[in-house]
Amino acid sequence: MKHLNTLVIGSGASGLAAAVRLNALGVKSLALYTEGLRMGTSINTGSDKQTYYKLGMYGIEPDSPVLLAQDLMNGGAVHGDIALVEAALSPLAFAHLAALGVPFPHDEFGQYIGYKTDHDPRRRATSCGPYTSRDMCLALIAEAKKNGIEIQEKRVAVSLLAVEENGEKRCCGAVFLNRGKQGEDALEVVLAENVVFAVGGPGALYRASVYPVVHTGAIGLAIGIGAKTRNLAEFQFGMASTKFRWNVSGSYMQVLPRFVSRAADGISDEKEFLREYFKTPEEMYDMIFLKGYQWPFAAGHVPGSSLIDLFVNREIVERGRRVFLDYRTDPADYDFQALSEETRSYLTRSGAVASTPLRRLERLNAPAIELYQSHGIDLSKEALEIAVCAQHNNGGLAGTIWWESENVRHLFPIGEVNGSHGVTRPGGTALNAGQVGAFRAAEFIAANGAEETLSLAAAEKAALETMDRLKAAWRRPALRNWKEERAKFQNRMSENGAFIREETLLRKALAETRSQLVALQEDGLGGNTIDDTVEALRNQQLLTAQILYLESILKQVLDGVGSRGSALVLSPRGERIHPLLPEEWKRLPEDPAFRSRTLTGRLKPDGSAEFVWESCREIPATDGWFETIWSDYRSKRIYGAHS
Ligand SMILES: Cc1cc2nc3c(=O)[nH]c(=O)nc-3n(C[C@H](O)[C@H](O)[C@H](O)COP(=O)(O)OP(=O)(O)OC[C@H]3O[C@@H](n4cnc5c(N)ncnc54)[C@H](O)[C@@H]3O)c2cc1C
Repeated sequence: MKHLNTLVIGSGASGLAAAVRLNALGVKSLALYTEGLRMGTSINTGSDKQTYYKLGMYGIEPDSPVLLAQDLMNGGAVHGDIALVEAALSPLAFAHLAALGVPFPHDEFGQYIGYKTDHDPRRRATSCGPYTSRDMCLALIAEAKKNGIEIQEKRVAVSLLAVEENGEKRCCGAVFLNRGKQGEDALEVVLAENVVFAVGGPGALYRASVYPVVHTGAIGLAIGIGAKTRNLAEFQFGMASTKFRWNVSGSYMQVLPRFVSRAADGISDEKEFLREYFKTPEEMYDMIFLKGYQWPFAAGHVPGSSLIDLFVNREIVERGRRVFLDYRTDPADYDFQALSEETRSYLTRSGAVASTPLRRLERLNAPAIELYQSHGIDLSKEALEIAVCAQHNNGGLAGTIWWESENVRHLFPIGEVNGSHGVTRPGGTALNAGQVGAFRAAEFIAANGAEETLSLAAAEKAALETMDRLKAAWRRPALRNWKEERAKFQNRMSENGAFIREETLLRKALAETRSQLVALQEDGLGGNTIDDTVEALRNQQLLTAQILYLESILKQVLDGVGSRGSALVLSPRGERIHPLLPEEWKRLPEDPAFRSRTLTGRLKPDGSAEFVWESCREIPATDGWFETIWSDYRSKRIYGAHS
């Protein structure tokens, strides 16, 4: 057993930033444990123009922490104090990255230019190009290595350790499997005063997913020790390619590809299936064009461009077919002159009027073609398979304004695993929130958590109990194949717990998830390789998470939250969505009253779920006075009751 002051789990953009900041603030008994520096979402993903959202800092355009916090709150179901912190620290976190060499563009006067992203009234967004989060990781890895921060790779956390202390739960470390060893030798325990939990979003929950294949997430470990969650049901979904996972937003739609579906073999019986829903080809093309601007599925765009997502999903889930974007040809009846004025003028002004979607894409955005080429997909030779995929969880674990878990002390969920966002959010706030969370947790730990308060005897006892449980499982033979089990729950989640939500299906999915978890917990680990053991245990935490995700979605459906954000709730009481969709496709409208509440939840020790609707806290009125704030700062009163 190893003992540290602070253990950081996860090396995405947020975990790396936390390690770098903790070290800078003098926390030296520190290590970062991770599956690998090349794992996770941040270093493996990107988009057309991957966005980082921060306070405006260009020219004469005014901005302030409160204005930005208001826009973060406008998405609904967001606490004002947390929004204010994310806004107030955004320039600091951004400047940290820029100073480490992340190539955010600025002009000759050092002004960081911005652009407008979705849900953004100002030009606050910036980008380094398609791979902003990777650039952030590379700069942070270099800094961590330069500072000699201990980094342990090939370590997979399989359990979080917790003890009771003064009537409260506190986190005291984690149990890892070291992928470089075999059997029980692979078990490693790290006891820690503080655990920064930076394990990313729940990437392996859905089959249809645009999270990188290597990223599974580990929120289930925290849910398993009873940590509170917030807004778990608020996901973002959108169309993405599946062979190589990438959002097909922006130019991929604006060049008007052919949407075709084929039989389950992916070859035979090709159809332009969207045509059945539109009166004319032009009407269909105008909707596809609009989809480029309005990429994520949005309940507010039904009717509207999000109907395309529904039609695509219906083709796949209900009809068992596969859907492709074909850029190679236009159909015989494609008539540029018949398109809407907006579509024609955009393509004309972009110099992208040409005879096939691929030629239009070449002119509009050639790197978009090269991107697929560099991942072995030649758009001139094959059609691109797509699905409506899970992309980001706005919800996650519930944290304080210092990013400490609301009910598990000394556990600091940061990055995507922290549910600080609401129903919608300006694009790019995920990366900002991850950096701000890292700064806040590091500051709080450096100011309060450097002294040792943990009872090592109690922590060791908790560790030994977990190890005994794992060793007992090793003595029983492994009877189940983890890949088959994972496919089962991913399919279930994509079909019943994604962006189309309906009570009966959710109840059935929940029952199946609960019994699958029991079956896996009874199975053994004996005879497995270390990799199979890791994945078998990972399935258990993913299923634990799936239970609370499905419970949260069901709770929102039953309480009448209705269709909002990236989710459509079907109900016999709802309104018919489209005359050509089946009768039962009726959308329950949103009840806007829920925009001013957040849903917190937790799994109780008996496995049942408990939920509370909390009123959103207002943005604090902070008409401060320098001398009093200085005094509060010096005396550490700013850290509140827990300092
Ligand atoms: C296609 C796509 C496009 C996106 N575009 C944008 C955008 O434009 N702007 C924006 O703000 N956000 C965007 N996002 C979201 C954003 O990229 C992520 O929210 C963010 O990168 C997550 O960072 P993180 O540090 O929280 O987690 P990650 O980067 O996922 O890192 C998690 C780390 O934890 C490790 N880990 C996980 N489980 C364990 C375990 N059990 N044991 C040990 N280690 C573990 C992983 O290996 C990894 O190192 C996008 C996401 C996707 C998928």
